[in-house]
This record gives sequence, structure tokens and C-alpha cells, in this order.
Amino acid sequence: MKTTTRVAVIGGGVVGASVLYHLTKLGWSDVLLLERSELTSGSTWHAAGGFHTLNGDTNMAALQGYTIRLYRELEEITGLSCGLHHVGGITLADNRDRFDMLVAERAKHRFMGLDTEIIGPDEIARISPITNLDGIIGALYDPLDGHLDPSGTTHAYARAARMAGATIETHCKVIETTPRADGTWDVVTDKGTIHAEHVVNAGGLWAREVAAMAGIYLPLLPMAHQYIVTDDIPEIYDSGSEHPHVMDPAGESYLRQEGRGLCIGFYEQPCRPWAVDGTPWTFGHELLPDDFDKIEASIAFAYRRFPVLERAGVKSVIHGPFTFAPDGNPLVGPVPGLRNYWSACAVMAGFSQGGGVGLTLAQWMIEGEPERDVFAMDVARFGHWTTPGYTVPKVIENYQKRFSVSYPNEELPAARGMRRTPMHDLFDGMGAVWGAQYGLEVVNYFARGDEPRFETPSFRRSNAFAATAREVAAVRGAVGINELQNFGKYAVTGPGARDWLDRVMAGRVPRPGRVALTPMLSERGRLIGDFTISCLDEETFQLTASYGAQAFHMRWFRDHLEGDVQIDNISDRRTGFQIAGPRAREVLAACTSYPVETLGFLDVAPMTLGMASCIVQRVSYTGDLGYEIYCDPMVQRHLWDVLWAAGQPLGMAPFGMRAMMSLRLDKGFGSWMREYSPDYTPAETGMDRFIAWSKPAPFIGRAAAEADRTAGPARRLASFVVDAEDADVNAYEPIWLDGRVQGFCTSGGYAHHSGQSVAIGFLPTDRIREGLEAEIEILGRMCPARLITRPLFDPDGTRMRG
Ligand SMILES: Cc1cc2nc3c(=O)[nH]c(=O)nc-3n(C[C@H](O)[C@H](O)[C@H](O)COP(=O)(O)OP(=O)(O)OC[C@H]3O[C@@H](n4cnc5c(N)ncnc54)[C@H](O)[C@@H]3O)c2cc1C
Repeated sequence: MKTTTRVAVIGGGVVGASVLYHLTKLGWSDVLLLERSELTSGSTWHAAGGFHTLNGDTNMAALQGYTIRLYRELEEITGLSCGLHHVGGITLADNRDRFDMLVAERAKHRFMGLDTEIIGPDEIARISPITNLDGIIGALYDPLDGHLDPSGTTHAYARAARMAGATIETHCKVIETTPRADGTWDVVTDKGTIHAEHVVNAGGLWAREVAAMAGIYLPLLPMAHQYIVTDDIPEIYDSGSEHPHVMDPAGESYLRQEGRGLCIGFYEQPCRPWAVDGTPWTFGHELLPDDFDKIEASIAFAYRRFPVLERAGVKSVIHGPFTFAPDGNPLVGPVPGLRNYWSACAVMAGFSQGGGVGLTLAQWMIEGEPERDVFAMDVARFGHWTTPGYTVPKVIENYQKRFSVSYPNEELPAARGMRRTPMHDLFDGMGAVWGAQYGLEVVNYFARGDEPRFETPSFRRSNAFAATAREVAAVRGAVGINELQNFGKYAVTGPGARDWLDRVMAGRVPRPGRVALTPMLSERGRLIGDFTISCLDEETFQLTASYGAQAFHMRWFRDHLEGDVQIDNISDRRTGFQIAGPRAREVLAACTSYPVETLGFLDVAPMTLGMASCIVQRVSYTGDLGYEIYCDPMVQRHLWDVLWAAGQPLGMAPFGMRAMMSLRLDKGFGSWMREYSPDYTPAETGMDRFIAWSKPAPFIGRAAAEADRTAGPARRLASFVVDAEDADVNAYEPIWLDGRVQGFCTSGGYAHHSGQSVAIGFLPTDRIREGLEAEIEILGRMCPARLITRPLFDPDGTRMRG
């Protein structure tokens, strides 16, 4: 057996095999896969082998498309069959919301180059005559859907990797992984120890146990899942062509032809997690006992939807476990806090996603970063706060919602209330309607009087509309107050702090007492952060950015730490409030003896408010006169009392995230992971205006950003006012010009102060001009849209800067 290798991939399921193949494809051949039994010995061997492109996240959908197209390539390289059946598939809609969701998906597919189609009942009857159409409105047809042979496909990946130089060691169980001081690993197996530069955890059902060997917890859980294969059915084998896949979300089932009969699987509500406390090492090529009780209601529904099933006998039942992360997407990438340790785990749809996961991980390892934004599956999207107590209810919820409609404004109920700020009970008493961000309870808006304490999930304007309008009016008309907890915050200190920031951030590092906005770039010049830097003194800086990107950003900071500098994630140790609106200055002045009129736009200063020691900076995402006031959580309630007492006579009202996101639309301000993400560059998004081109520091991403600026980006962000009805832009709606899709939206919503539906999106640079008439497709309706080049509110910035 090899004793040294560049990469040791632990696990020979479809995912490990795909990672191994992609490492060789991108040029690393000194790679070794370790499998404790035979290949496919986890979830892989008993999968139903279905594949599809549909995924709520656009980049995940693109990677699924990549995976499906890869199978032919594997067959050609290896001469092995993946057992492909490209039969196409339909997803049924039996109510308006479900149909809206499919129409919105179809709209996204237009600019993704996916050839899906919305079809009506007649066409459904033609494609799938066994479907009872009672109550069916329509369906999404995807010609790429199909199924394959799970074992043949895994072996095809493995052979392709071997042909390119990879080694596979079966019957070789990893029992320990120990880091060395230089960042390499000793991988101890029952056949000896291997010294590896990198370790990839592709342990599938045993990923938790493999992670524990490296001292980490990965938030994933196996769920028991069951599908049934029927005896021969004449309507199937006599139909003349292979029956397509039918996803019936109302019945939580997926169905396809298997031989001369059908195969149908369920995502049942009375679902069961499996091996909650750990996967036994003794588990192997066996199945779980049949469990018809839990799928009784699902079967009854399926009999109504597909009446032929009632007459068909059961040939076999497959009941086995596979793993999920709390949000159902894989856990991929460099594990925060460890060097050269990579995750390729929680891949719940290995045959739709395995290729994309392998490609992404190989790009990350070999080229330094994936080619597209993969935050939706980045292992760093979960923080240190995830525990089994969180993971278990979230995974159950995710399984149960696998076929549910996902609404853009939906707040999921499982595993809530774990992380709360000192303001929680007070805000709750004021009518807060809560959302969750990175495990933290955040106020979306405040309900008043007999308004419901629940926002109805919807693709259209929700019941939060009136409350959001009220909060926006309070900010623009007087002064609003909003908690600052949900910012990621970092203290950067030490004699080398300024030099380090100059290298890591593309923008200007401010002098003491000043604040600056700056993009952070990857080597390829992609946006990986939009930060506010506050210089408290020459060796003390505070950075703020997205709360949900904490582990993502800390991983980057640690990987690029150099010089005499310390970086500390203080997100939960520094909190506070922002106050914004024309009377914000008066409120602040009433709370402190500091001469607040001297605090100019983008100034920062220490102040005492009441008895609380605070850092106050003049900046506001609302685009209004505003201040961010930071303090220690221990004095947050006192700070609230002081600000609230001063604000009440001036018309102060609390506001939540819904109002904040509406206020920013008045100004056309972009937001993280919507307008600003690793998919985009500074020149494309306008973030290049914050780059300090003249600074001497060779900041990360400089060469790429300069090249992008010189060449000029082919597309740019633009804002639109939209003639919308009852639904505003959310994200990824196509933008039509001259009868063709020429761009897509990144975000939008209703700008309550301006009284306009606003969209932000990309268009070819040469088309961007004031007043350009376009159409934006919202839920299947072509909405006239007009491009605007000046903000709707305070276009000259007099209110914000004055
Ligand atoms: C009933 C059922 C139906 C399914 N249907 C579909 C479907 O239609 N389409 C689809 O895309 N997906 C389907 N899936 C899901 C699919 O099976 C998984 O997404 C996929 O198998 C995950 O592959 P993996 O490589 O991550 O994990 P696994 O298949 O679990 O592989 C992990 C491997 O790692 C090895 N290993 C673990 N620890 C060690 C160690 N310490 N040392 C050495 N080796 C180790 C194991 O032996 C195992 O072979 C289904 C799953 C089930 C249960």
C-alpha cells in the first residue's frame, strides 16, 4: 500500500469516487481513495439512481446540470456503462403556489440555458397517461431528468480516476487522522499509516465518525428512506416507450419505470432519523426492515394519483439510510479551523450532485477557489453554534419539506430560539415577528394591535407589507431604531494590522477616527466580502460584514494571516443599535455629552451614552442620516433604555429586516450574496468605486480586478422601477430586451418610501442607459420595467451626508 500521497480521500461511495476522478481530471494524479469495504458500501449501492436539475439555488442547479452531462463523458473514457435512462421528468403542481414556484424555476432556467418547459394537463396526460389529473394545474417538464445504475456509475468514476493515475485501496478502514505541525496529515488505517498532504472526508453514512477523528463536528444526520419496486404493469411495459419520472410534490413521491414495472419512493411526514448517536461500523451491505406504517398515507395518496399502482404487486422494498445537512445541501470545502482538511459530505442526491461536488472540491484544492459561488453548499455556512440538538430537528424538517413549496419570505420553524440577544423578550413584547439568520433570532418586523404574529409565506406581497410600510415611514419621517446584532464583527489589532488590512482588503484602510467601505477579493478578483472598516486607533480596527458569513470570512482571514496582527471574531461579543432618519442626530445628542454635530459622515468615535461605553460611527445602510452604535452585550439593555427614552418624544419606532431591505432599495444599495457574491467582480457590481487603485499594497485580487477594469465588464448591475402587480422581484427573474432574455435580477422588492417596485439586476454593459425600457418576468407575467441611474431617494446624498 502507498505510504505517502498528495490527497487521501476517505470513502468510496459515489461522492468519494467523483472527488478522486475530478482531482485527476484537474491534474493531480498522486491521489489515493481509502474504502473500508468495497466501493459503494454506504448509501450508494441502494440508491434509486434518479437525477434531476431542479434546485432552489441557481448555482446548485447548474452543478446538477454539470453532473448529469458528465455521465456520457465517463462512459466514453472508461467504456463502462452508467446505465443511463434519459427519460425526462415532470414535476406536478396541484395548487397556485406550487405552480408559481415551477413557473419561477422555469424563468430562471431561461438564462441558465436549461431547456425546461411548463406544460398543461393535456400534455401531462400524453407524457404520463397513468397520472390521474384531478386537481392538477400544470407541470414543469425537464428533458434532462433520468436515472442510472448507481454501482455502474461509481465504478465508472473509479475506473476513470485509476486510468489517470489514482490509486484505490479497498478493505482499508481509516481509524485515525492526525494533523502534523506542517499542516499535513497522518491517516492511520487498519493496513498501515499514510502520510497525506490533504485529507478529504467523503465518509457518507460515517462522515460524522470520520470528522470526529479530526476533532470536529459536521452537522449532518442519516434519515431512513424507502422506495418500492412493483411487479410488471401492462400499462407500463406495453406503452411503447419508457415512462418518464413523475414527481408529485402533493403526494411527496417520485416515480419512474423500473424494468417492466414502476419504482416509487416517498418523503413521508412520519419520517425517521437513523443512527442519531452515530453510524455503527458494523453496518454494511444490509437494508433496514420494511416499514409500511410510516408510508401508509403516502401510499394511499399514490394510489389515487397513479391508480395502476393499486393493482400492482410489490416486487421489492428498498429501505436504507442516507445523510442530510440541516438545509439539505451538501457540506463541501475546506473545514474552518483545520488545515488541508476537506469535506465532501451530506450529499443527499449523490447522482444529481456528486459530479458538481467533485468538480467544486477539486477546483478549490488545486486552483485555490471554485469557479462559481458555492456558498449554498460551503461547509462554512454553518457556524460553531451547530450541535446535534440543532441538526436533528432541522434535518427532519428538511426531509419533510423536501417536496414542499419554498417561499422567498419563509421562516422555517424547527430548531428555533437557541440563539437570542438580550433584547429578545423586550422585542417579543413589542410584537416582534422573528426570522432566523445563522442560528440567531432576528426581528423581521413588528406586528401591532391585532396584526398576526406570523408572516404568511408567499411569492406575492405578504401580510408584512403594511407593517414594513409603517416602519419605513418612521425611519424616513422621524427616526427608527434597529438592533445591530446580525452583523459579523471582527477586531483586527496589533502593529501589523494596517499593513495586513491593506493586503487583504481592496479598498482604502481609513485613518484613525474614520470609516471606509471596501470589497474583499479572491485571487481571481471575485467578491468574497463587502466590509466596513472602522479605524479606532492606529493598531485597532473593527470590521463589519454579513453575519451569516462569519465562518466563511474567518476561514479566509486565518488562511491569509501574516505579520504582527491578531484577528478576533467578536460578532457575538459586540452588539448595539443603529438609529436612522432625519431626527437621528437629535436622539444621539440627547444621550451623550459628545458634540455629535462634529461627527461627520464616515466618522467613528468612542462615546458614552447614558452609562454605556460605545463606539459610534456615522453610516447607515438605510441611506439616511444614521448612526451605528456598538456596545458590550452586557450593557445593551441599558443602551436601549437610554436611546428609547430620548427617541420617544421625537417619534422613534423600532424597525426590522424587512424595512431595512426596503429602505436600501430607495438607494439601489446592493446586498451580500445577492448583488455581491463570488460570482461577480467589482467592476460588474460597481464595487470598484471602493477599490483604492492608487494604494501601493499588492492587495489580493489586484491583478484580476485591474484586468477586469481595463477590459471593461461585459455586464453590469442596473436598477429598475417595475410595473409590478402584487408580486415583486425576488431573485433570478429574467430581464427581457427586444424579445430576448438578456439579463437577470439579483434582488428586488417594494421600496415603500418611494412607492415603487424596484429590481436590481445584470444587463449587458452597452445596453445600460437611463430610461431603457425592459420587461421582467415575475411569476410568468411580463412586467414593464424602466432602468434608472439615479437613486429614488436622496440622489445627491445630502440627507445621508449632511
Ligand atoms: C433508499 C435510497 C434511495 C436513494 N435514491 C437516490 C436517487 O434516486 N438519486 C440520488 O441522487 N440519490 C439517492 N439516494 C441518496 C444517495 O444514495 C446518496 O446521495 C449517495 O449515496 C451518497 O454517497 P456518498 O459517497 O456521500 O456516501 P456513501 O455511499 O455512504 O459512501 C461512503 C463510503 O465511505 C466509506 N467509509 C466510511 N468511513 C470510512 C472509513 N473510516 N474508512 C474507509 N472508508 C470509509 C463507506 O464504506 C462508504 O462506502 C438514495 C438513498 C437511499 C437510502
